Amino acid sequence: MYNVKSPRAEEFISDEEIKESLEFAEKNKSNAALIDEILNKARKMKGVSHREALVLLDCDIPEKNEEIYQLARDIKNEFYGNRIVMFAPLYLSNYCINGCEYCPYHAKNKHIRRVKLSQEDIKKEVIALQDMGHKRLALECGEDPVHNPIEYVLESIHTIYGIHHKNGDIRRVNVNIAATTEEEYRMLKDAGIGTYILFQETYDKVQYEKLHPTGPKHDYAWHTQAMDRAMLGGGIDDVGLGVLFGLNNYRYDFTGIIMHAEHLEAYTGVGPHTISVPRVRPADDIDPDVFDNGLSDDLFAKIVACIRIAVPYTGMIVSTRESVASRKRVLELGISQISGGSKTSVGGYAEPEPEEENSAQFDVIDNRTLDEVVRWLMELDYVPSFCTACYRAGRTGDRFMELLKSKQIVNCCHPNALMTLKEYLMDYASEDTKKIGEALIQKELNVITNPNVKEQCAKYLGEIENGKRDFRF
Ligand code: SF4
Ligand code: SF4
Repeated sequence: MYNVKSPRAEEFISDEEIKESLEFAEKNKSNAALIDEILNKARKMKGVSHREALVLLDCDIPEKNEEIYQLARDIKNEFYGNRIVMFAPLYLSNYCINGCEYCPYHAKNKHIRRVKLSQEDIKKEVIALQDMGHKRLALECGEDPVHNPIEYVLESIHTIYGIHHKNGDIRRVNVNIAATTEEEYRMLKDAGIGTYILFQETYDKVQYEKLHPTGPKHDYAWHTQAMDRAMLGGGIDDVGLGVLFGLNNYRYDFTGIIMHAEHLEAYTGVGPHTISVPRVRPADDIDPDVFDNGLSDDLFAKIVACIRIAVPYTGMIVSTRESVASRKRVLELGISQISGGSKTSVGGYAEPEPEEENSAQFDVIDNRTLDEVVRWLMELDYVPSFCTACYRAGRTGDRFMELLKSKQIVNCCHPNALMTLKEYLMDYASEDTKKIGEALIQKELNVITNPNVKEQCAKYLGEIENGKRDFRF
């Protein structure tokens, strides 16, 4: 039976509730009166339920779809403005004992090069990332208690935070490791992680068990209840959800991820910090006919828009799995964070990997450098942000949500974005990027509404110009 507050995965992600919602949305996809009612509720910018969001996703009335896209843009603008937070993934190890059918790191893949970074290797990777200008990382690591025990992950986090090369430092380390115990979540929290990220892959239990035939990840409940353990048992404030679109019926997984967000809010008091929307990509030892990236770009854009409407307070992430054109389209519809200059191979930042020695998790489509991505964003009138202020000021979990809901972000996120962009321009940007960026900063200073904050921000920008670093609101 469906129960949003239940601790049991099969109750808060009730298959019956999802199937009834799918039927309801199918029946109402041309119901203009109902769609208007949902849109009116959504215009309050406080979210809509999973069932309502699915009706919007299924809506087949062209004029209403235009309204849906416009509302997604408005919500994006209201909560996130034109700022886009930048990050990079860092792969620590591709040893893995799980059997995920769609991932080349699965245990039965005997020809992929297995690599685990030593602490020395990690230093080289982090210096390479700092030299690009990154301040925020997402650690990625396969599940393998022998090669990648929690002690290895903790030591790696400690190493990363300890490296200060030139003006570089990594100020927030988000972690994407397998579902684990409350005790290990507590250790991650104590190590100072930012967001704990765990993708559900698919919410459909039957399909999930088929796609994960072996290894600890096979256990649907253990995996699906992981965020509850991380938050309530481990004390981690910020968690990041995701599904891998293309593995299963997208309507099912869309409904599932919104239900998961509703569960976190109802059960732990805080909704997810981020939602990621990866799509299946070609990779070593993965049959392209089985996993064919099933969604069109149009559908993908609509999914992003409807998630934006359903959970306005949750950041949304796309990676370099997406093409430049697809990234551009979803940025305006709801995405607030993107990766740039990513390498998906283990050790790929310090030493690019020869093609015949593939250790990558998936093929990157957007191969541009971070500098090119930053310039591209600014040419589109976005402000690339390297801000990590909330995490460092202890504004996580419900305190972060309060900031978002207070509508004061324009006096907080915006100056922080401009100052971290200024640091980037001073330390890492090419001449062209710098020129565009300096003009953008001057223009965007006017967006700050509080005169004191604006004045202070202008003063800090001058100090950054004179060599000082790391100011924040
Ligand atoms: Fe291992 Fe994660 Fe790949 Fe599954 S998706 S095989 S758990 S690295
Ligand atoms: Fe994110 Fe906080 Fe920085 Fe705003 S101030 S961009 S919410 S870290």
